[in-house]
Amino acid sequence: MERWEQFQGVYVHTPFCLQKCLYCDFPSYAGFPDGVRQQYVGALCREIEVRSLQQELPVAKGATVYFGGGTPTVLTVEQIGKIVSTLKRCGWWNRPAEATIEANPGTVDAEKLKALREIGFDRISLGVQSLQDKELGALGRIHTAEQALCATEEAKQAGFRRINADLMSGIPCQTVESFRNTLTKILQLNLSHISAYSLILEEGTPLERLAREGKVQLPDEEASFNMYEMTTEVLAQAGLQRYEISNYAVPGKESVHNTVYWNYEPYAAFGAGACSFNGKERRTNTADVLQYIKGSANLSLAALKTDTGLWQTESPDRKTQISEAMIMGLRMTDGVNLQKMQQRFGIDILESYGKEIQILLDRKMAECGGGTLRLTPYGMRYGNRAFEAFI
Ligand code: SF4
Repeated sequence: MERWEQFQGVYVHTPFCLQKCLYCDFPSYAGFPDGVRQQYVGALCREIEVRSLQQELPVAKGATVYFGGGTPTVLTVEQIGKIVSTLKRCGWWNRPAEATIEANPGTVDAEKLKALREIGFDRISLGVQSLQDKELGALGRIHTAEQALCATEEAKQAGFRRINADLMSGIPCQTVESFRNTLTKILQLNLSHISAYSLILEEGTPLERLAREGKVQLPDEEASFNMYEMTTEVLAQAGLQRYEISNYAVPGKESVHNTVYWNYEPYAAFGAGACSFNGKERRTNTADVLQYIKGSANLSLAALKTDTGLWQTESPDRKTQISEAMIMGLRMTDGVNLQKMQQRFGIDILESYGKEIQILLDRKMAECGGGTLRLTPYGMRYGNRAFEAFI
């Protein structure tokens, strides 16, 4: 059976946070009381159970597990343990090659991290973002730089060997020097993985409004460019190789779960706002937590086959699937394996997109060799322009 005929990843969404960050437009909410969180866990376990009966696709042996959010670590250890046991009982936790949990440094302590390791997580992704308190404040984060450093050390002591830190550039008040300082401090921790993103001002977020009204000062274009260039250079010097536009790892410690997305492989996703992909169809659960709880509590196998209003489905046509697979694959420095595209979609990419690819090659945005098409570092810098060739 081919990899794209089985679920290669399992995602579990927790839509709760202690406080909404000023830039965030993810499906996550602050202010729900403990009782709702408890009901949510029950509803989530119900969805996991019922969907295991549906036989959507087989779960590959070694399929990765990823608890994301939101902030999964606002749940108690007991609640997280209950979700994991349900995944195991229902066959979704199938000797995962990697089991990751995201954590906000302001929501974990040594005891909780140890418990998460004992439950079975072997990788943790910490939302550090910056190691400057002023910048963390400008983002509306709940943690301080000291808490982020402390959580990282405690994660190591708890036995996590694979630790990711999310970092952000383009933050209000940030300078090239303060970003360098954050990178230097984070590298002293010897982590195996860094995700470095540029802040995106999403419409409708408080930070976007503040920026539009001129009430916060964002780094200018030149500073942003320098931060971007510095990230790749400084991390490479420290042995963290870029393997995706925004991701860097010690070789062999890349995120297996995220690679499932970039390889356009099927994954199952549970929870409010979670989006599953079976290789052909996308199913997105309602992001309304209370509607999710109500709908999921009454979920049955029969209900899954009808439209309950609990989720929406979307079936991208073959052309869209090819386009999505190319765009996702080109995010990785390894690029897209053209033979695999031929096997999966029956398409000769070089022939079908010959003109567009030639333009990318001429502009030195892409290179082709050894049966692979990949973006150059310059192409990655202007990824969106390169991706347009496949839309
Ligand atoms: S912790 Fe993450 S998910 Fe929660 S509000 Fe902040 S950015 Fe959004």
